[in-house]
Amino acid sequence: MMITAISRQNILLPSRCITNVTFKNWKSSRASESETNVRTGNTDLPDYNTTVDIHTHKLSRPAAPPPRPGPPPGVRWEGLQDLRRRTKGSLIPETLKQMEQDEDFKLTAEKLKRLGQKQMTREERKQRQRALNMLGAPDFNQFWLEQKKKENVEDKETVLKKNSIEIVQANIGLYCNQACNHCHVESSPKRKEMMNREVADKILAIMAKSPSVHTLDITGGAPELCEEFRYLVKGGKQLGKTVIDRCNLTSLLEPGQEDTAQFLAEHQVDIVASLPCYSAKNVNTQRGSGVFDKSIQALILLNELGYGKPDTGLKLDLVYNPLGGFLPPPQQPLKEKYKEELWDTFGVEFNELFTMTNMPIKRFNDFLHRRNELQGYLELLVRNYNLKTIDKLMCRNLLSVNWDGRVFDCDFNQQLAIGMTGQGQDKVTEISVFDLESTDDVKGMDIKTDNHCFGCTAGMGSS
Ligand code: SF4
Ligand code: SF4
Repeated sequence: MMITAISRQNILLPSRCITNVTFKNWKSSRASESETNVRTGNTDLPDYNTTVDIHTHKLSRPAAPPPRPGPPPGVRWEGLQDLRRRTKGSLIPETLKQMEQDEDFKLTAEKLKRLGQKQMTREERKQRQRALNMLGAPDFNQFWLEQKKKENVEDKETVLKKNSIEIVQANIGLYCNQACNHCHVESSPKRKEMMNREVADKILAIMAKSPSVHTLDITGGAPELCEEFRYLVKGGKQLGKTVIDRCNLTSLLEPGQEDTAQFLAEHQVDIVASLPCYSAKNVNTQRGSGVFDKSIQALILLNELGYGKPDTGLKLDLVYNPLGGFLPPPQQPLKEKYKEELWDTFGVEFNELFTMTNMPIKRFNDFLHRRNELQGYLELLVRNYNLKTIDKLMCRNLLSVNWDGRVFDCDFNQQLAIGMTGQGQDKVTEISVFDLESTDDVKGMDIKTDNHCFGCTAGMGSS
């Protein structure tokens, strides 16, 4: 009955049969006749014509994937209207204007003047400690040992120690064209500290004697605006290392930086860039007015050079950090969302997205404290402590170097002036690059953890 029912209709063969075939007036009595014809090749099937000279058969190349949909020729992406004009000129005057008007910046500047940098950092540490005491949380190292015991982790390590160093991170200066309100290094156009050639040369010399180091990670401030940036890039590349530029994107559009993006592409520098949202409002709230447009314009420029595109080898990764005192969403779905939003609105592409937890230090600590949210945020970090992050903490395999040559376990410790130390002639002293021959000299040293470290162990980690 079923056969009769479909026999009067068109039948679509599976797609591998390539074509639609119409069987008309099918009668069951013709089945055996058709079978015979198929065997002998005597059929009227439209594609039953493959030659028996099978040695002449060739496979065609697979079809290229369809291009991503974009606007029709001549029509620009909606988000690009007028962008080039809007992003002309330096961001610095706007940043300075905001610093003068913003209440948070004014309070910090006044406190800095009154207490000095050292005393301010001490006070900040006390604020965190008080908040942790209120929660009944022990110090970071003690907490780690307790968690290991709870989860029956059997190892003998009682203090975190440095493994073989794989990454040298150079913070080459605090000068920046932006002054973001979450900045953990308190950079701005007002900071003038910068690395000199002597320190840069010593970093390269140490790397040359450290085969375990595969990457030179250059950060700031806005590193491209610092004096030794290009020298270090070229030196790192000559040593055959991967070089990363922690780029704020807008620096690429500053007057005098017109060839910087080209320079980065020519030297195959990997770019890791902050973009804490795909919406202008959120980015400008966190990083300053006008930053979003300039960031997009810089991303377009980098895409034009091949960054973030398949098969160019030019890596462009973005970094997300939350707007306020909460944990970041899961990385993979957020990356998909970013890809969709940035492509659909601006035609922008990138490789990976990394999520970072805000570290409760410096401007972000002040921001939380002023809003009376510091204790709540620390509670969140402690509540979401994840023992699995410990082996991946950046302080394990990274050596952080300050603009003046002092060395630290990580960039956060650097900003809190918690330096690595060694035994001098008669006392413990801070170490600088000038005390090291190779990074093997710091392997096995104790890592200096403190109460801010809960920011690295919450959720999926942050290093
Ligand atoms: S977060 Fe980065 S871009 Fe923003 S002020 Fe600090 S160093 Fe500059
Ligand atoms: S802040 Fe993070 S990376 Fe730095 S020492 Fe603490 S745990 Fe390690």
